[in-house]
Amino acid sequence: MSELTIYPARRVRTMDPARPVVEAVAVRGDRVRAAGNLDELAAYGPARIDDRFSDAVLFPGFVEAHTHVMSGAMWDHTYVGFYERMDPQGRRWEGCQTLDAVVERLRAVEAELQSEEPLLAWGLDPIFFPGDRLDRRHLDAVSPTRPIVVTHQSGHLMTVNSAVLHADGITGDTLVEGVVKGPHGEPTGELQEPVAMSLVRSVPTTRVLGFEPSAAWNFGADARNHGVTTVVDLGSPVLMDEEAVTAYRAAVDQPEFSARLSVFYMAAGFGAATEPHIAAKRLLELRRTSSPKLRFGHVKLILDGSIQGFTARLQEPGYLPDDRKGIWVIPPETFAETFQVFHDAGLTVHVHCNGDEATELFLDTVEHALELHPRWDHRHTVTHSQLSTPAQYRRMAALGMCANIFSNHIWYWGDQHRDIILGPDRASRMNAAASAGRAGVPFTLHCDTPVTPLDALATASYAAERRTATGRLLGGHERITVPDALHAMTLGAAYTLKMDHEVGSIEAGKYADFAVLAEDPWEAEPAALRDVPVLGSVVGGRHFPAAT
Ligand SMILES: [Zn+2]
Repeated sequence: MSELTIYPARRVRTMDPARPVVEAVAVRGDRVRAAGNLDELAAYGPARIDDRFSDAVLFPGFVEAHTHVMSGAMWDHTYVGFYERMDPQGRRWEGCQTLDAVVERLRAVEAELQSEEPLLAWGLDPIFFPGDRLDRRHLDAVSPTRPIVVTHQSGHLMTVNSAVLHADGITGDTLVEGVVKGPHGEPTGELQEPVAMSLVRSVPTTRVLGFEPSAAWNFGADARNHGVTTVVDLGSPVLMDEEAVTAYRAAVDQPEFSARLSVFYMAAGFGAATEPHIAAKRLLELRRTSSPKLRFGHVKLILDGSIQGFTARLQEPGYLPDDRKGIWVIPPETFAETFQVFHDAGLTVHVHCNGDEATELFLDTVEHALELHPRWDHRHTVTHSQLSTPAQYRRMAALGMCANIFSNHIWYWGDQHRDIILGPDRASRMNAAASAGRAGVPFTLHCDTPVTPLDALATASYAAERRTATGRLLGGHERITVPDALHAMTLGAAYTLKMDHEVGSIEAGKYADFAVLAEDPWEAEPAALRDVPVLGSVVGGRHFPAAT
């Protein structure tokens, strides 16, 4: 048996109601042996005392249930987002706060590239530049010949230059929903949602889906910097491919890899061509091969688009400015059929629903699926759940469902949702964590990195504070307490991943996964929560100091 190590800390906050605050934690191998005061831990036999955390606060490692591993690869490309952002190595990238600044950064990078190399950028957010939308003409001015692809921050849209349109044969005659056209019927260069975006084949675009080992290592580093010890790859279309599964194992099962990873299978769209029954059978087999750090077996489906991209499906009265309807990413006719297969197989499905019409369709589908095939403890989850109404949360509770709420939107796009996209009434009830709690729906909160940065304390603070980037309060009745927000980012997320018996609190028998913090977040004001310094993480008893 491996030796017992006791880590005294300034404070250990356990999230275990039986012993919420203790002095130290005893670790054997990758598990917590006991959490308690030093004299209590003496009862567990001979132990080595390790003082490295004696000035720090140990907190359960944060769990993020909606992230994408490929966010680690985005930094190979040019960032043109609105907000300043830190990469996994700790370097800060300034935001591009005007359209001119976006074009200028693209020009500067273009001048440095080799002759054949395409220019790939990410993070564009047209909602911050009303009245002046980037199109192919701006990009043609950067280069008329070099292929240029700018992926938008939401990941649901991209803008390309004429060289790309030409190479991929996208013209005024292309009849695909999502190919945006100008007044004369010519493509503007903007492509909305996966079907239109997949027309671009001539250059490798900044994909969020797929798997690359270097991206995974970057992503692990990002998690470590924020005290996040369990993450998700929410929608991998490559799991049917044995080589890809081997690549996941080769990275994540290394002792040096600084997170646990639950890989969800993207079961429709995005190149997932496997027939659902065959996919479900393979997932059940893959689930049996899960390791302590790498989990398989859950499923992701995407119903609609993005709210700030005006492609999410909204119930009446729809968007504020006009009667745009949004886009179904999976046709409603085939969604129920596909979902039923995975439900019947006993798998947990997380479904992307940004708009309330998408949530409604998912709820109807789950209700019908349960009539055909009753199941307990399925934990099907509405992910994003941005416009889910109190009535929909009551239905989620009745159907045994969970919600994973995109609280970062309140801070990042709250002003735009209020003023441009939805109006003050519906913007005030977006990302309704308090309503979820009142209805009794188990919930967590997320960042959807690369859409917004991976930072669990920031996500918790946005849900507790509900202030926009300009400081406006957005729906104070939907604020949750700091302890509830921290619960959401630990045990709440673990529950939606069916890992709450293994991670999410510091308790005897659970994995020794900790966030190492400089202060106790439990007592922080909502806004100050995101300023609590993170010193690193511990995953399975192994210490990973943050990049400084
Ligand atoms: Zn996502």
